[in-house]
Amino acid sequence: MPLVSESVGRLIDELAKLPGIGRKSAERLTYHLLRVKKNEALALADAIRDVKENVRYCQTCYNLAEADECVICSDPKRDRSLLCVVEQPRDLMALEQAGVYRGLYHVLLGRIAPLEGIGPDQLTIGPLVERIRNGHFSEIIMGTNPTLEGDGTALYIANQLAGLPTPITRLARGITTGSVLEFANKEILSDALVGRQKF
Ligand SMILES: [Zn+2]
Repeated sequence: MPLVSESVGRLIDELAKLPGIGRKSAERLTYHLLRVKKNEALALADAIRDVKENVRYCQTCYNLAEADECVICSDPKRDRSLLCVVEQPRDLMALEQAGVYRGLYHVLLGRIAPLEGIGPDQLTIGPLVERIRNGHFSEIIMGTNPTLEGDGTALYIANQLAGLPTPITRLARGITTGSVLEFANKEILSDALVGRQKF
């Protein structure tokens, strides 16, 4: 006999699968959801359903989008001569929140991580090289994380682009090595962008 109702047990199990949420937190969240008003709890369920049913990758930059193109690619006010390469949509979000970059992005959807079996073919490097080859960019900014794998990924991409005339820069090392873009604060990200250096 389960100690709690089957439905409650199921919600605890599902929440406990989320990253960073242990069994205890899952139980706490479940009892919280049982306490709040029905519409409040269902708003969470609806938000999860909407994300899974409506969100896809932008066909140009692989950012999250609700149409063929994301809000950035379809914004006529963006500077189409600048392209910043980031690992994940959440890195893009961090740079956007810093509010100093007005160019376009390319999201790799990961980084090369040989130990985890992630090679260049599993990322969006092919489409990126195509995009740069066929585009009219005046600068490519490497915004991968300043980690061993992020640096390795940037180097791999730079090698793929060797021979193309477009200059490649990288974010300045204001971000402590090993820290991750999404956790850097606004000032650090602004400095990193303004002080970007030749790759
Ligand atoms: Zn896009």
